[in-house]
Amino acid sequence: MKKRDRILLKETIAVNYRALQLWRKMAGRLLIAITASSVLEAAAPYVPLVFTVRLLEEIAGNRNPQRLVMLTVLLLSVSTAVLLLSSVCKRWNAAQKETAAYTEAQQYFTKLLSMDFCLVDDFRTHELLSQIRQNANWSGWGLPRMPEQYEKLLGGLTKIICSVALSASLFFKPVEGDSPLVWLNLPVCTVGILLALLGAAMLSPYLFNKGEAYWSKVGEDVKYGNRLFGFFNYIAFEERERAQDIRAYAQEQFFREKLASVIDVLITEKSQTAAYARGPMGAYQAAAEAVTRLLNGIVYLFVCLKALGGAFGVGYVTQYIGAVTSLSGGIADCIQVGGDMRNNVPYLNLVLDFLDIPNTMYQGSLTTEKRRDRQYEIEFRDVSFRYPGSEKYALHHVSMKFRIGEKLAVVGENGSGKTTFIKLLCRLYDPTEGEILLNGINIQKYRYDEYLSIFSVVFQDFKLLALPLGQNVASGVTYDRERVVECLRDAGFGERLATMPKGLDTNLYQELDENGVEVSGGEAQKIAIARALYKDAPFIILDEPTAALDPIAEAEIYSKFNDIVGDKTAIYISHRLSSCKFCDEIAVFDQGTIVQKGSHETLVADARGKYAELWYAQAQYYTE
Ligand code: ADP
Repeated sequence: MKKRDRILLKETIAVNYRALQLWRKMAGRLLIAITASSVLEAAAPYVPLVFTVRLLEEIAGNRNPQRLVMLTVLLLSVSTAVLLLSSVCKRWNAAQKETAAYTEAQQYFTKLLSMDFCLVDDFRTHELLSQIRQNANWSGWGLPRMPEQYEKLLGGLTKIICSVALSASLFFKPVEGDSPLVWLNLPVCTVGILLALLGAAMLSPYLFNKGEAYWSKVGEDVKYGNRLFGFFNYIAFEERERAQDIRAYAQEQFFREKLASVIDVLITEKSQTAAYARGPMGAYQAAAEAVTRLLNGIVYLFVCLKALGGAFGVGYVTQYIGAVTSLSGGIADCIQVGGDMRNNVPYLNLVLDFLDIPNTMYQGSLTTEKRRDRQYEIEFRDVSFRYPGSEKYALHHVSMKFRIGEKLAVVGENGSGKTTFIKLLCRLYDPTEGEILLNGINIQKYRYDEYLSIFSVVFQDFKLLALPLGQNVASGVTYDRERVVECLRDAGFGERLATMPKGLDTNLYQELDENGVEVSGGEAQKIAIARALYKDAPFIILDEPTAALDPIAEAEIYSKFNDIVGDKTAIYISHRLSSCKFCDEIAVFDQGTIVQKGSHETLVADARGKYAELWYAQAQYYTE
């Protein structure tokens, strides 16, 4: 956090103010609860103080029984009422804080969901989010630290106001003229005491913050340690699939060694943190405490001497000492919070950077006209594309037209750009150059949700949800059960469906239901195909749809393919050429460009073409 030294007051205020606005939007009630509870809590000790002073003065003076009773009743009743109210607000505050923690976490989630896909897919977005999380895990840097700061700041300000109100008269009540202590009336004494007060209030937090600053010296180690703990925690508890690898390759030795090294750096008495605590960090903080005590001692002496000189009665000694002590406490709190808020600026900046990431994809407003005839024609016109942050073109000058109702296969080796082609078609990314047209109009001009609704896609790395089977297929809570069953049958899941304990209502996976059913990769793929069929969009896109299927299931899908897709325009991606023979047209991708196009027969006949090369290389697997 080198930048910290250069953070100015103006930046601290601006960044904290913006972050406070975030809190207000996320959890407005929390801010009200904090305000009420911190002001009341800070003010509560002054109430009995005020009445006690009056009571003591009365006891030392007139001793009027009526007044004594009234003051006692007031002391007890008002103090109790304020304390009760303060406790209620404190409780309310604590409850609000609990829910706010969830809201705070939720805003990252909400932001991710509302981001353009290309931003979510960008590793830099995840890197930023991961940094924010690491900072929050380590001492709550960033947003989580703010409620506590706000609370301390308001408490500090309340203390200052109350203390000034109660202690101001200390300086205006002179020692009686015939007292040997009359020199206490000299202005230099007043100035000296004010300086001592201010000194205690400022020097102490200064020293304290100097000590605290040692935390950031171990910041990098702590961050690395947290990351490591987080990672091992994740793979040990969250990634069940890893357990077999860990056992087969005795990987636990890595865990042990890595963790031992981190524990030594961070936690044990051998660690740098412990060395700092024993050394300068401890010394600074002890000095901070000593300064407060010493300078407070001087103020106490001044108050007592003035009382001795007859400036005021014994009751006021209690009032002034109480007020003066908490005045320096209040100032110290404010200065400490100020320092902490400044230290928090770089962490808040990361949060704001993340939340401010703008969606850059152009959002058009044209409607795709839900055409009954499904006459949707798509054309790639000289499209080139580079992934953000990458120098290399994943697609280069790709031009092609989809004929309506056609079954198109896209083939090519791994990494030749097939999936990228689909991502552009589904507008998960926009082309770097060239354009994609739907019925002659650039797809960017259509409403995004409407454009997406014309595609049913089974992505290569599709994911199902830990929800009931039927809801997975229908992508909704209420659905047409008969049609879901039909789609599952068409996708080859019919027999397996009969064995599902609660049919369509069987939960998939066990994350949310201990009786959930774990489906295999091949079964999941069939469910994903059924989901695409249920959507019944004019385009159906299957990206390596049979990769996890056994040969029998694969053959079953092909034999039914024409029935399944009906009059839809189908795009079928595969690196297994045998699975594409039934398509009307095949586009061959190589290093990001379309090198050949045609039917299987014409392509295989071109002996020098890429298709023939791939075909004969793979032929050994399917001649039998
Ligand atoms: P295929 O589907 O034919 O296997 P892809 O379309 O997945 O090929 O990949 C084409 C090229 O783009 C490859 O060189 C791959 O490394 C690169 N690529 C794919 N996804 C990304 C990404 N998210 N960021 C950067 N490069 C990528």
